[in-house]
Amino acid sequence: MTLLGPVWVAAPHPDDEALGCGALLAALTAAGREVWALLLTDGGFSHPGSREFPRDRLAAERAAEWRAGLGVLGVPPERTAALNLPDGALAACDPAEVERLVRAAFVSAPPATLLLPWRRDPHPDHRAAWEPLTAACPPGARVLGYAVWLAERGAVADWPAPTEARAWTWAVGEHRAAKARAVAAHATQLGRVTDDPGGFTLAPEMVRRALEGPELYFEEMMG
Ligand SMILES: [Zn+2]
Repeated sequence: MTLLGPVWVAAPHPDDEALGCGALLAALTAAGREVWALLLTDGGFSHPGSREFPRDRLAAERAAEWRAGLGVLGVPPERTAALNLPDGALAACDPAEVERLVRAAFVSAPPATLLLPWRRDPHPDHRAAWEPLTAACPPGARVLGYAVWLAERGAVADWPAPTEARAWTWAVGEHRAAKARAVAAHATQLGRVTDDPGGFTLAPEMVRRALEGPELYFEEMMG
């Protein structure tokens, strides 16, 4: 799988990029490819009941975790952009407005390759990201959908049909340690927020599966 740069990885939430494509990103930057990252939402809705981490603080922490994790994967802060759209409510945003914001972010380095959650990855924000992101992508750019929650939460119909997309697998292999550190950077999703029992925590089995690999990518077939 040869991917031309600039490569952009779009994450609806901080951690999607590490879980879904940490090993590929590490391999790309190690090979000298220019990788950029785009964060769509503020990530501030993972622990709505926490008093210690009210939304603004949580969003700031998560943005810092996101940049730290990307740094481990070889993506420097100056190649990151965050749109700060509302976590959990991307589907309620005007797609044309989201597309406009994405286009503005892409101006700094128009993508030759775009990585984004597969169009039916089972999370409403992931699904809502597909249309505005692909619409903002320059013609001719290669678009690969990555899997985040398909294995855990996907129904059969969420996976691409055989005629719909070509599936690629990427072994985690030599980049497992880097991917593990990138995932571990997301401490707020791994138990650091202790005062919201209803809040979100990444299940250890999910993290294990993501680190075991392989990573899955789907490229839609044309015509
Ligand atoms: Zn997500």
